[in-house]
Amino acid sequence: MTTSLVWLRDDLRLTDNPALDAAVRAGGRTAVLYLFDAESPEVRPLGAASRWWLHHSLRQLQTDLAAQGGSLILRRGAARDVLASVAAEIGATSVHWNRRYGSARAIDTELKASLPDAHSYTGSLLHDPWTVTTGAGTPFKVFTPFWKSILAGPAPRHPLVAPATITGVEAVSDQLDSWNLLPDRPWAEKFPDQWTPGEAGAHERLARFLENGLALYHRRDEPGIESTSGLSPHLRFGEISPYQVWHAVESVVTSESRTNANRFLSEVGWREFSYHQLFHNTDLHRRNLRAEFDEFPWEAPDIAHLSAWKKGTTGVELVDAGMRELWKIGTMHNRVRMVAASFLIKNLGIDWRIGEAWFWDTLVDADEASNPASWQWVAGSGYDAAPYFRVFNPELQAAKFDPDSVYRSRWIEEFNTPLYPEPIVSLSDTRARALADYATMRGERPPQ
Ligand SMILES: Cc1cc2nc3c(=O)[nH]c(=O)nc-3n(C[C@H](O)[C@H](O)[C@H](O)COP(=O)(O)OP(=O)(O)OC[C@H]3O[C@@H](n4cnc5c(N)ncnc54)[C@H](O)[C@@H]3O)c2cc1C
Repeated sequence: MTTSLVWLRDDLRLTDNPALDAAVRAGGRTAVLYLFDAESPEVRPLGAASRWWLHHSLRQLQTDLAAQGGSLILRRGAARDVLASVAAEIGATSVHWNRRYGSARAIDTELKASLPDAHSYTGSLLHDPWTVTTGAGTPFKVFTPFWKSILAGPAPRHPLVAPATITGVEAVSDQLDSWNLLPDRPWAEKFPDQWTPGEAGAHERLARFLENGLALYHRRDEPGIESTSGLSPHLRFGEISPYQVWHAVESVVTSESRTNANRFLSEVGWREFSYHQLFHNTDLHRRNLRAEFDEFPWEAPDIAHLSAWKKGTTGVELVDAGMRELWKIGTMHNRVRMVAASFLIKNLGIDWRIGEAWFWDTLVDADEASNPASWQWVAGSGYDAAPYFRVFNPELQAAKFDPDSVYRSRWIEEFNTPLYPEPIVSLSDTRARALADYATMRGERPPQ
C-alpha cells in the first residue's frame, strides 16, 4: 500500500502546501509529521517567543488536520535519526517536504540521498534563491535589481487548495505539552490579545489588511496607526504562503490601490531578498557580510546600557516604546525596529549580534533570514545596507512618524510624567563616537 510521509517544518498549513498536496495525490495513506529538532547543530534553537507561537500553531494544526480525517505525528530529536526511523516504522513508500534555505538544508540533502523516494518542493518562497541571479550568474547584492528581475519573470503560480480528505496513519506521537514550549513565567500573557497562531488566524489577518490596511499602506512608517499587515509571524511559520498573499492582493487591487499594493509586495520581496542572503551565507547571524566590519572596534557592552535597552528604560522615547511593545506583545513596528537597532549599535556602541540575539528570543516573527539581514542592514555590514555613518536620530524620527505621540504614549505608561527617565546617553556625543569608530575601522582619521 502507498504510504506517503509529509515532513512539515516552516509550512504549518494545509492550503497551498506543495509537499502535502503531492503526498495526498500519490493516493493511499498520508502521515504528517512535525519533528522538534533541538539537537542538530545546523538548526538554530528557537527563541522563547517563537516557541510560544509554535506551540499554539501546532495545536491549531492538530485540529485542522483532524477535520480533514488526518492527524499530526509529533516527535522530537535529531532529524537525521528521527525522520528515517518514522519512515521505517510506518513503512513510508515516499517522503515529501517543502524546502528550507539556511544551514539546516545540509540535513535535507543527506536525507534525500538516503531515504526512499524523497521529494522537495518550493513552498515558502516565490523563487528558489538559485534561480534568481544577475546576468553574470552571481547572487544579487542590491535589492532593486533583485526585485526587478523577479517582476520581469513569470507571475507566481496560483495557490493550491487543501486536500479534501486525508487518510491518516496510526503512529506513536509525543504529547505537545511534553515539549514544554510555553514560557514558565507569565511573560507572554498579552500575546493572545494580539495574535491568533494558525492558518485561520493568518487568513483573518490578511483579510483585515486588504479591507483596511492596504489603502493606508503609504503611511506604513507611522507606528501609531494600523497600516501594515501583521502577517510576519504567520509567514515565518508558513501558516500562509507568499503565493497566497500575492494572489490575494492582486485579486483586490484597483487603480487607486496599485501603488500601495506594489509597495506592499516589494516588502514581501525584502523577505525573499533576506532568504536569498541566507541561502548564500548560512552564517548570516554570526558573520558580517561586508568583511571590513570584522575590524570594527566594538567595546565590551555596558551591561547597564544593554539592560536599559532591553527593558525600554533608556530615556529615549521612541526606542523605549518599541522595546516595551516587543516585550509585551512579541513584535515591534518596522520603523521603530530600525530606530531601536540603530540606537543599540551606534549610540550605545554594542555589536549588532547582541541585539539580533535579543530580537531572536523575543520576536514572534523571529526569522532566521529577515532578522540577521535586517540587523546587518542597520549596522551597515549587510547587502544593500544603510551606510554606517547614517545614524537615525530617534527624536527626529519620533517627531516625523509619531507627531501626536500616539505610539509612544500607548507603550510608555509614565510618558510625559516626571517618572520617565532622562536619556542614558547624549545622542550627539554618542553619534560623534560612532562616526569616529567607523573612521577607525576604515583606517581613516576620525572626523573633528
Ligand atoms: C532590526 C530589524 C529586525 C527585523 N527582524 C525581523 C524578523 O525577525 N522577522 C521578520 O519577518 N521581519 C523582521 N524585520 C522586518 C520587518 O520589521 C517586519 O517584517 C515587519 O515589521 C513585519 O510587520 P508586518 O507583517 O506588518 O509587515 P508588512 O509591512 O505588512 O509587510 C508584509 C510582509 O513583508 C515582509 N517584510 C516587511 N518588511 C520587511 C523587511 N524589512 N525585511 C524582510 N521582510 C519584510 C514580512 O514578511 C511582512 O509580514 C526586521 C526589521 C528590522 C529593522
